[in-house]
Amino acid sequence: MVNSAADNSGFLSLKQELLEGAALFASIGLAPLTQGNLSLRDPASGHILMTPHDYPYDQLKPDDVMVLDLAGQVIEGEREPSHEAPVHLAVYERRADAGGIVHAEPIYTNLFGVLHKSIAPLHVGALIDVRGDVPVMPFAPSGSRQFGYDMLEVMGDKNAVVWANHGMLAVGSSLRKAIHCTVMVEISAQLHHMALQHGEPHLIPKHYHDRLVG
Ligand SMILES: [Zn+2]
Repeated sequence: MVNSAADNSGFLSLKQELLEGAALFASIGLAPLTQGNLSLRDPASGHILMTPHDYPYDQLKPDDVMVLDLAGQVIEGEREPSHEAPVHLAVYERRADAGGIVHAEPIYTNLFGVLHKSIAPLHVGALIDVRGDVPVMPFAPSGSRQFGYDMLEVMGDKNAVVWANHGMLAVGSSLRKAIHCTVMVEISAQLHHMALQHGEPHLIPKHYHDRLVG
């Protein structure tokens, strides 16, 4: 009788959800090679399932998923936890609405990150997902819970933030929504950059913001 660790895990369906999210994330170019990381919260136990450090997304199996408690203790998983785990945990600790988190490295978002320039919500989908413009976290080495707390100050009630010179982070009520938000940020960054080649882009009128963001 074969009994793999995955078969015994109470987290198997959530691990599959994380793997599906990771495959989608990699397939649409949100992070080259092994860059970036994804996580989701198990609503039942409160534990966090996260991609391991520096591991190819197309080779991830359920046993490779790290399960952590909110303090960062490893509950399941033999691999090294992602170095950004403390940042994700800070968000789950402070934001009850966070069900999934993505740290991504899309190129146009990184363009604004190296300019230290916020991304305007030019696309209606970005305004809805992000809840306004995408602010920029001033440069600091990531990977610590304090970085996460400082980042949350910059984010306020937004669902996304650019990290200066280092990608972005998006939060959603589910992992799928965090990925959607990441795509919307990247589309906005690309649009913002392209529009500036032709003139000043028109913003969505302010009086529509509350109605759209809800
Ligand atoms: Zn990174």
